[in-house]
Amino acid sequence: MLSDWCTWDDDYKSLVQSIRRDLLNIAGASGGVYTSVLMQGSGTFCVESAIGMVIPQNEKLLVIVNGAYGRRMVTIAERLGIETVRFECSETEYPDPAQLSKILDNDLAVTHVSLVHCETTTGMMNPLRQIASIIKQYKRTLIVDAMSTFGGVPINIAEMDVDYLISSANKCIQGVPGFGFVLAKREKLKVCKHQARSLSLDLYDQWAAMEEQEGKWRFTSPTHTVRAFKQALDELRKVGGVEARNERYIANQHTLVNGMRDLGFIPLLPEEKQSPIITPFYYPDDTRFAFDVFYRELKKRGFVIYPGKVTDYDTFRIGNIGNVTPEVIKHLLTAVQESKYWESLSFKNKE
Ligand SMILES: *Cc1c(COP(=O)(O)O)cnc(C)c1O
Repeated sequence: MLSDWCTWDDDYKSLVQSIRRDLLNIAGASGGVYTSVLMQGSGTFCVESAIGMVIPQNEKLLVIVNGAYGRRMVTIAERLGIETVRFECSETEYPDPAQLSKILDNDLAVTHVSLVHCETTTGMMNPLRQIASIIKQYKRTLIVDAMSTFGGVPINIAEMDVDYLISSANKCIQGVPGFGFVLAKREKLKVCKHQARSLSLDLYDQWAAMEEQEGKWRFTSPTHTVRAFKQALDELRKVGGVEARNERYIANQHTLVNGMRDLGFIPLLPEEKQSPIITPFYYPDDTRFAFDVFYRELKKRGFVIYPGKVTDYDTFRIGNIGNVTPEVIKHLLTAVQESKYWESLSFKNKE
């Protein structure tokens, strides 16, 4: 990242092309059927870019919602004037396959369906394979937000016939923030010219530029971030690829949950629904607990956690992706134990 790269120079463009190929390899996709496009901005910019381009005028999007990121897709689509239906599910339950089939059976105007793979709100992993097969059975186009799973959880888009998959540089691939990417079926993307509702986020035009000019972005690309991403991809390969990374994340998550249980914390989700990415815990059942104090105590000890995002319960979340090992999680657990300030407060204060 300390070297400058020229956005139009051949060395840089070949770096971009190699990244585009690496991404397809990670997704188990062949370059004949699928292609990849990189897009400036954070993950949400990429979601907006994809949603804003893939749905033609007068066609309808169904969004499966069981958390904040599903809701964000609805907001994006509505803001862009796309006719949108939401299939609202409980934040702690999988979408009901029978209900989904019924919606697709009844509403023939729905042409596209979008789903968040792991809802980072709860850390719940949606059953992508099962939902994809229903959507394909009803011959709809499938858009998957795999922001928080791609690179850390094995996903084969060719096998599941996913049409569009969206993710970003800085989650499981462990790059630095600054851009995201969309893996797309060529035959679907090919017919999307002039369909985008934005100029700078026009995924088709970005793709056309990258194809025709072999790795050229239309507008200034985040060169340092892109170079760092290539490094992150090389490191992913060196540690043994997605499977190996997935195992480390699982080991992190198990160490975390077991240790937190020992300290008296209860996870929101049952084990089988929980992803190895991020874990919400209920607030302790103690009126002296305040999230911001707990947060500050942990931060003093070198750890930053997330506030909860679930609507119905008071929770906080602990993420365990990135360059984190079970050793690090053990240090975190010690910090959590030391930060349980509410247990050492004397009852006198309350009186
Ligand atoms: C992080 C995330 C996003 C949004 O990414 P930003 O980079 O914050 O814009 C979207 N969807 C999911 C599932 C995420 O985890």
